[in-house]
Amino acid sequence: VENIKRLAILGAGPSALFIFKRLIEADYKFFEIDIFEKNKILGAGMPYSLDGANDEHITNVSGNEIPDLQTSVLDWLKQQPDDIFHRFNIDRNKISDYKVLPRLLFGAYLNDQFKMLKRLANEKEMTINFYFNSEVTDIIDNPALGKVLVELQNGQKFSYDNVIVCTGHIWPKKHEGNVPGYFDSPYPPQKLNLKLNHKVALRGSSLTAIDAIRTLSRINGEFRPTSNGKLNYNLNQGCENFKIIMHSRNGLLPAIRFHLEDSHLLNDSVLTQAEIFEHKSKNDGFLSLDFLFDKNFKSLFKEKDEEFYEKIKHLNLEEFVEMVLDLRESIEPFKLFSAEYLEAEKSMRQKKSIYWKELLAVLSYAMNKPAKYLSAEDMQRLQKTLMPLISIVIAFVPQGSVLEMLALNNAGVLDIVSVGEKSNVEVCEDGGIVYHYVDEDDEKKAEYFKTFIDCIGQPHIAYEDFPYKSLLRQRAISRARIKFKNNLNGLTEFNKGNINVEKDINGNFYLRVPGITINDCYQLVDDYGAFNERIYMMAVPYIGGFNPDYSGLDFCESASKIIIDRLTNG
Ligand SMILES: Cc1cc2nc3c(=O)[nH]c(=O)nc-3n(C[C@H](O)[C@H](O)[C@H](O)COP(=O)(O)OP(=O)(O)OC[C@H]3O[C@@H](n4cnc5c(N)ncnc54)[C@H](O)[C@@H]3O)c2cc1C
Repeated sequence: VENIKRLAILGAGPSALFIFKRLIEADYKFFEIDIFEKNKILGAGMPYSLDGANDEHITNVSGNEIPDLQTSVLDWLKQQPDDIFHRFNIDRNKISDYKVLPRLLFGAYLNDQFKMLKRLANEKEMTINFYFNSEVTDIIDNPALGKVLVELQNGQKFSYDNVIVCTGHIWPKKHEGNVPGYFDSPYPPQKLNLKLNHKVALRGSSLTAIDAIRTLSRINGEFRPTSNGKLNYNLNQGCENFKIIMHSRNGLLPAIRFHLEDSHLLNDSVLTQAEIFEHKSKNDGFLSLDFLFDKNFKSLFKEKDEEFYEKIKHLNLEEFVEMVLDLRESIEPFKLFSAEYLEAEKSMRQKKSIYWKELLAVLSYAMNKPAKYLSAEDMQRLQKTLMPLISIVIAFVPQGSVLEMLALNNAGVLDIVSVGEKSNVEVCEDGGIVYHYVDEDDEKKAEYFKTFIDCIGQPHIAYEDFPYKSLLRQRAISRARIKFKNNLNGLTEFNKGNINVEKDINGNFYLRVPGITINDCYQLVDDYGAFNERIYMMAVPYIGGFNPDYSGLDFCESASKIIIDRLTNG
């Protein structure tokens, strides 16, 4: 048939799973689809496979928060054999849609969902080819022919009309392997199988750090349940000096998972595209951060939590963030953690949300897509004010991890220090690092650690490091940047020597943000500002500038919808 198009999906993790599901649902028969996966597992992706987890690692979302797939997580769990429950130490009678799961178990769920969809695709007689152990090493655009070439590590090349890049997480190595005791990330976690008798430094205190903590604590000691439902921790013999120190900018621990009222609230509360466009047209083409904050955040409290609304209705974004951070900074982090654990338990027990926290997650999610419409001035405010708060509130710590961290802290094995804005990790060639920072009493510190694990989470990959080099050479991708609303502000930053500010030939100033430019449909935008009809980018490490808050499976679901709508109607 003449109008059959060839589509390639690069990577077969959760992003690809949602794309695949939507393609099948769209009942669009005019595609021949090839899926390339560098490993040999469908659906699990990085966090839910051995690339990103051991048995001890857990998800941060529960069944009720997961976008719909073929079977619900709960129904799927009920069908699993007993040995699975034994392996992961789960009581079959206590499973529920409100509990987080071991990540490897969740990966098995995603894998089964992919297989079910594959069967469905067969029934619908769709043409789909799977290529396993097939790492994509380059993408070459051919605008003249309207085709894209995909090149594999073995040199094979395939030609397509459309390509969706779903290659997901990437953890570049800077020093790991060359500097003993230095780890650029805790992934894959099998490498942290280290019996240690000294202090370990982690950079970061969020979920990535907790992954490292869960692994190291099991290898160097043991958790035992107490009679009151908590945990005790004891170090193994020979590990008496083992201790983990988290280093974070503000010395804060992340917030704890509570009962999320309705994760679909996320979808309802986001400003519509039409509202955004209307506002932009009245605001020199920019979306104002204050407008976003008012509409997508403050006004939601009018109904949900009047008391809280009264407290915040006169605050702007900066004042609001200051209020929240002040509240947290005034209490010792592990004491606050302990108090928040009780609050979260209550919220879970009563199935009652803590609205302002839920809505902060909403705010963060709502910022994600429209962020590229902000002015550079507002983007700087977002980066400076809101992002530090979001990193604390968006990554909710599951209860099990909280109990372990409290037990470790009680045993004197886990601590957190505040290193401020200007810390520095000096790499020692013979091994380990020296952590330089100014502490809360304004005292200069320099502490040596034989083992260091960078736990800042998925790094944004710079434009220059984009892995599909032909696209870079062809200028089919462009550096993500955002225009200053007031050129004078741009000029001032430029003259101050801000290396992220650049000037175009017309004298306009821009703020560079991480990664590459994409349009609203996740299509690449080239150096001349034209979008690419053929290539879609769903891999988050390359689009972090235009998508500052990446929201996991929610993102996979919503981005896949936009992409498939565009692909099948475009
Ligand atoms: C440690 C960790 C824990 C997380 N936990 C949660 C959570 O609990 N809940 C949540 O909602 N979100 C979580 N996230 C967010 C996460 O980004 C998404 O849930 C999801 O994994 C994103 O899926 P993806 O397919 O885009 O990327 P990935 O999961 O990274 O999958 C990419 C796939 O592409 C393959 N691939 C990569 N490069 C190539 C190549 N060159 N050629 C061919 N194939 C390739 C990989 O093997 C993999 O299968 C977590 C993230 C991390 C890092």
